[in-house]
Amino acid sequence: MPEQFDSILADVAIVGAGPAGAAAAIHAARAGHDTLLIDSAPFPRDKTCGDGLTPRAMHQLDLLGVDVNATYRNRGLKLHGFGGTVTAPWPATYPSQVGTALPRYQFDALLVDAARDAGARLITGMATAPELDGNRLTSFVVDKQRVTARWVIVADGVRSTFGKQLGRTWHREEVYGIAARAYAKSPHASETWMHSHVELKDPDGVVQPGYGWIFPLGEQGGVNIGLGALSTQSRPAHLNTKKALRFYAEQQRAEWGLGQLSDVSSALLPMGGAVSGVAGANWMLIGDAAACVNPLNGEGIDYGLETAALAVEMLGSKDFTLAWPDRLRAEYGEAFLLARTAARLLTYPQFLPLAGPLAMRGPVGRLLMPAAARLMGNLITEEDKDLVARAWRLAGGTVTRLRRDTPLWA
Ligand SMILES: Cc1cc2nc3c(=O)[nH]c(=O)nc-3n(C[C@H](O)[C@H](O)[C@H](O)COP(=O)(O)OP(=O)(O)OC[C@H]3O[C@@H](n4cnc5c(N)ncnc54)[C@H](O)[C@@H]3O)c2cc1C
Repeated sequence: MPEQFDSILADVAIVGAGPAGAAAAIHAARAGHDTLLIDSAPFPRDKTCGDGLTPRAMHQLDLLGVDVNATYRNRGLKLHGFGGTVTAPWPATYPSQVGTALPRYQFDALLVDAARDAGARLITGMATAPELDGNRLTSFVVDKQRVTARWVIVADGVRSTFGKQLGRTWHREEVYGIAARAYAKSPHASETWMHSHVELKDPDGVVQPGYGWIFPLGEQGGVNIGLGALSTQSRPAHLNTKKALRFYAEQQRAEWGLGQLSDVSSALLPMGGAVSGVAGANWMLIGDAAACVNPLNGEGIDYGLETAALAVEMLGSKDFTLAWPDRLRAEYGEAFLLARTAARLLTYPQFLPLAGPLAMRGPVGRLLMPAAARLMGNLITEEDKDLVARAWRLAGGTVTRLRRDTPLWA
């Protein structure tokens, strides 16, 4: 006997209810589409993250009408390391020149609630077993239910289990991130700057290509502390991130009055559009599933929210197969290539010890670090593009391998 499935019909089905999927559900429902939002986990659920929201993310949240952690706002980044500190206020790129931070356990549930309020139906279960007609997705299964939708938006995160079944491939020869985070109590939870330590040493004292962060969470009464390192298949970061995080926390404990670490967890991050197979005739990948993460800092909530809006705009189009990667390239291609270039520089062991002190101190530091802070905050200006290009050329003497790019979303 063939297995019997209940049938669910929708205009738009969205797989994954993280920030990207929930935002897509809000936009789709508000545009009048019958919207089904699916997640394998019941909400609220945790997600390994730094919880930082840049002004770019705040802008998208304003457009969605979702207010996040209303009593806490931050003004920008303070970068520390190599004997210097640079303060970089958020630039005036977006109307709200402030950021914030909220544990994902709360943030994601807030967005899912907003999606329900907008009229989306939420179901819990693992999406699997896609049925394809050519590259058109005709139906798939969630537990004992067969979902048939005119369009499918896949927002199933870094591992993209459903996306993989549709042919999504992650190119690990490009820079990707390995990262860990934890929470700790701190009397400085209302500090209005996000802090990053760019001279990231492992317990053996070796400088690693990455950075540590302390993001205050405001009245939540604590901070998110974490670290991330950059890796490529040919130059893998040799770092136990959880162990390195405990070591980093010890270094910061006195200054921040840190309590015990809780909820230590780690995760991988695809970055800079280094995936292929991101669309078919009626489906497209967004957010982490499409590797829409800044290669310099691992931030992706803002891109998740933006790609959600872009995907919903595209729903009327005839065929997404070429149109969606084209759209992603037009929107992010240049910025991601630039950030990939800068990130790849950091994975050369000889680069950071040479460039770090130069970047953090003196006249070069005053020029370079605010630009680096903008890159890290996903807020790039025209002058920054030029600066990264020059840094790459300057590093040419020490970096011998030729620049090689996996095409974006190809
Ligand atoms: C340590 C760390 C720190 C970070 N810090 C920051 C930061 O400070 N700021 C920032 O902007 N970004 C940060 N990021 C990146 C950020 O976490 C991601 O970019 C963001 O979560 C992407 O959102 P998403 O909706 O695409 O995916 P996710 O948030 O991962 O959501 C995917 C959802 O899909 C569901 N799912 C998966 N498979 C299926 C399936 N087959 N069926 C149904 N549901 C499924 C999952 O349960 C999950 O809820 C960090 C990442 C890491 C690892």
